[in-house]
Amino acid sequence: MLAAQYVAGYGIEVAEVAPRPPGPGEVQVEVAYVGICGTDLHILAGHMDERIADHGVIGHEMSGRVAATGEGVTGWSPGDPVTVMPLRWCGQCPTCRAGNEHICDHLDFVGIDSPGAMQQRWTVPQELLVPLPGALSLRAAALVEPVAVAHHDVVRASLSPGESALVIGGGPIGVLIAVVARTRAAEVLLVEPDPYRRSVASGLGIDVLDSGSEDLTGALDAWSGGAGAAVTFEVSGTQAGLDLAVAALGARGRLVAVGIHAEPRRVDMRRVFWKELQLLGARVYERADFTAAVELLERGSVPVDAIVSRVDVLAQAPAAFDSLARGGRVMKVLVDCGAAGGSA
Ligand SMILES: [Zn+2]
Ligand SMILES: [Zn+2]
Repeated sequence: MLAAQYVAGYGIEVAEVAPRPPGPGEVQVEVAYVGICGTDLHILAGHMDERIADHGVIGHEMSGRVAATGEGVTGWSPGDPVTVMPLRWCGQCPTCRAGNEHICDHLDFVGIDSPGAMQQRWTVPQELLVPLPGALSLRAAALVEPVAVAHHDVVRASLSPGESALVIGGGPIGVLIAVVARTRAAEVLLVEPDPYRRSVASGLGIDVLDSGSEDLTGALDAWSGGAGAAVTFEVSGTQAGLDLAVAALGARGRLVAVGIHAEPRRVDMRRVFWKELQLLGARVYERADFTAAVELLERGSVPVDAIVSRVDVLAQAPAAFDSLARGGRVMKVLVDCGAAGGSA
């Protein structure tokens, strides 16, 4: 079978490898689609070489069907449509014991710390599987993981109907946060520098602003009626984005830190004090976010076709990564690993 491997200092190589049969408690999944995300681009840039094995298989956003089950596996049969929640935790550390297993002190993020989904057959522990409704296409189901990220972010914000939410950064996660926030009847505005990404968001009926526009402050003031935002989602991972996320909040506003910052940042703590702001980290997701993401997709609340810009077959995975790394007119890129048979 084929697998897309990360080769340090080179990039992505598609190689012929033997599938690993499922051991006790494991399930082998025939992979349909794998999404490529910003984290995968960080891997490619060599930023995670201390975590990922050379020739390791990457990919953590996927859909597929059960192909085979190992000894002791119950409740799963070949052909069942599934996705995988790519987190493994120890269950023993203080973080796990406090009920925060998803950010375990020894978290194994599958697709970075252990082999990922971008292969035709992928063997995982059964407890990672999440069932999919038969009516949901496997192409749409490839978005369950990023929708779960967005759902977790919105839950962390405790967003209520009618509240104003500013999303800073309009890539796939930013747009999905806006989409999920809208399902909670929030007043959403998204700022993004890239005109193509702005056009995708505005095509979905999301209000957008150019983060580079001259009178951004004035426009934000007009939007919030001078009150400032109730919630800001910092998705850009930049100092400028963080500055805006603090400056745009009104009294007792909540800043949700979603983007990955490559280094420690400055935060205007004077304003945090003055306006009684709250800073909230939001990392990955919990099982409930996965369940909610499946439901949102099943209900058709997520505009899958607008978000998926391109699908490449597994043999062409290097081109799929290139298209994302080059930027331009692209949002989410999927790799077709074959299980959907090109029809779903
Ligand atoms: Zn991701
Ligand atoms: Zn733990």
